[in-house]
Amino acid sequence: DKPLHNKRLIENRLEEIGHIIVVLANKGGVGKSTVSANLSAGLARLGFRVGVADADIHGPNQSRFFGFAGGRTRTTYDGLKTLAFEADGISHPVKVGSLAFMLEDDSTPVVWRDAYKHDFIHHLIGSFDWGSLDYLVVDMPPGTGNELITLCDMLEGSDVSAVLVTTPQAVAQMDSLKAGRFCNERGLPVIGAVENMAGIVCPHCSEEFHLFPDAGLGEALEGLGISRLAAIPLAPELAMGSDTGQPVVTERPESAVARAFEPLIEAV
Ligand code: ADP
Repeated sequence: DKPLHNKRLIENRLEEIGHIIVVLANKGGVGKSTVSANLSAGLARLGFRVGVADADIHGPNQSRFFGFAGGRTRTTYDGLKTLAFEADGISHPVKVGSLAFMLEDDSTPVVWRDAYKHDFIHHLIGSFDWGSLDYLVVDMPPGTGNELITLCDMLEGSDVSAVLVTTPQAVAQMDSLKAGRFCNERGLPVIGAVENMAGIVCPHCSEEFHLFPDAGLGEALEGLGISRLAAIPLAPELAMGSDTGQPVVTERPESAVARAFEPLIEAV
């Protein structure tokens, strides 16, 4: 009976969205936001109508990845009006929906219990004015808890699939295996896994070396029927792209790191 939980409203909204891609990792700091931003920008570059929904409530950085640092908007009480942002400067707009636009400033902490977060996930997907989209990419927070369960409950019956992000390290892979098992148990199809921070090329001698010991992602995930879609190197362009709000796939599409995203973009 609360407007935010109006089931029909959410159903109407979801009818306008072709595919929903949930980007998750279970672990923090492995590159979910980086992958979400570059996947969204890469799809937009191909001409698709794309939105990216930032479900990382305590660390909503997606706005920054698209150059919206400091951008603020006011929303109506029930949040049913337009809350979509178009990023120009890339060949096609990406709509970015983020709690960051509703906070007082960039350093405002979000101190919310689960009930608020549950409401916000409904609000983000169901009430933001996404319009008609081919793809909505959802950047998830770490973990397999509240936000992910809420989202899965909400999206039951929709065209939704997941992309897992991990690094070569055993600790990250173990966490991504948990995310993979979550997906299998919830019946959420997994498109595949992205191995991020996979190697780095020395800017002086051009030799490639591996910062993280490779724990053998292939075998571990294959056990769950999940294949490795892409290996993204550690690259200063990616770190810089997130700070300057220019996703590398649209900013430097010919670079090796941008091309590393291609198999992922093709797979979705
Ligand atoms: P998560 O969303 O999983 O917490 P982020 O995408 O925010 O992770 O990445 C964490 C930090 O590492 C960010 O500052 C990002 O710019 C940087 N980063 C992520 N992947 C790479 C990469 N392949 N090369 C360089 N920097 C990266």
